[in-house]
Amino acid sequence: MKQSLILLALLATSLAATAQMKPRPDAFPPKPEPLATKAISMATTADDMSAWDRYPTYETYLEMMQRWATQYPTICTIDTIGTSIQGRLILAAHIEGNRDMDLYRPQFFYSSTIHGDEVTGYVMMLRLIDTLLASYGQSQRLTTLVNEVGIYINPLANPDGTYRRGNHTVRGAIRYNADTVDLNRTFIAAKAVPQENQVMMDYVSAHRFRLSANLHGGAEVMNYPWDSFTSTQRPHPYSDWWVEVCKRFVDTCRMQSRSYLRDVTESGYTAGGDWYVIGGGRQDYMNYYHDCLELTMEISSNKTVQSELLPTYWHYLNAALINYIGEIHTLPGTQGIDRSEECAIRVFPNPATSRVNVSGLPVGTQVELLDITGRCLATRITDTSPLLIDLDGLPRGIYLLRTAGTSMKIAKQ
Ligand SMILES: [Zn+2]
Repeated sequence: MKQSLILLALLATSLAATAQMKPRPDAFPPKPEPLATKAISMATTADDMSAWDRYPTYETYLEMMQRWATQYPTICTIDTIGTSIQGRLILAAHIEGNRDMDLYRPQFFYSSTIHGDEVTGYVMMLRLIDTLLASYGQSQRLTTLVNEVGIYINPLANPDGTYRRGNHTVRGAIRYNADTVDLNRTFIAAKAVPQENQVMMDYVSAHRFRLSANLHGGAEVMNYPWDSFTSTQRPHPYSDWWVEVCKRFVDTCRMQSRSYLRDVTESGYTAGGDWYVIGGGRQDYMNYYHDCLELTMEISSNKTVQSELLPTYWHYLNAALINYIGEIHTLPGTQGIDRSEECAIRVFPNPATSRVNVSGLPVGTQVELLDITGRCLATRITDTSPLLIDLDGLPRGIYLLRTAGTSMKIAKQ
């Protein structure tokens, strides 16, 4: 979580006498919570998770991930991002349909619980994986989503913090990793990048994630970039888009609960730096270094919610979490990119750098390449092999391929 400015101000006052101390987020007085919110039940087998009202033990977590890969081998594989300092696995479920088809698909990434005690998102991500897999072939909408987007979900980014007291419980979980380092302050900016972050950086560098979110707890607000600056100092270039995305997310959740996502702002969202500025966070790392639009989702005021309330949070969040994956089709600059399998004509790669292949058109079809103003830049006639359309020398941007029957947008990178 991010702590409020008011608390920071209070702490600054109390630290005035000891100016050399840095404020530590976990040093704030904890929110008073009724005792009942501390009721934590653990699932010791994957079957125990069937009602989604418990937290998994570490072994149960591994069992669930393995079971999904076994049960849904054509659409789910489990990636090992790396290991934690104490040797626990940092995993991601890679969910994608029609893998044998050579199609461009944008890649999406969810990650949770980089702060080990903020475990609500951990269970939300597990349940999201289960929902996407179980809905494949059942729900047309979710089947299309899984076919159109490469979805990667890392439920637990800081397993040593979460299982601080051992693999059998999340009670006593801590924010930090085993070296007492805050992983959400130590991307790039840190002198020594912690092991958990290094493997995460390697993983995201090996992919081309275009949209992602990092789930936290301790507050309820959507926090869009930048975290390193206030919006007055440096607004994110896509601030307008972020606001629209956040509004849609918040509105969707509030259809289930009017009071949800209100403990930081009435709107339910904020530019990160306007809440308070941090350095070395993953959100800015993803946005700045990977051109991946990442949102920080603070999803529960209590970091470790009573386990029997987990289904309530899922009720608030599930539609919004699924819709957020689909926001990858609304990214600035990529609106309207052809949704591949919806038509027999295939255009790949898309986005493209120097040329695109067009297949699936009858021999002798005329194809025109137009710029965004409708000016015709080239005309080609298909023959028996895929048509190659040269984009070299064209500026980056959106172009249109038009035939007599259809047209589709392509993006030049
Ligand atoms: Zn956090």
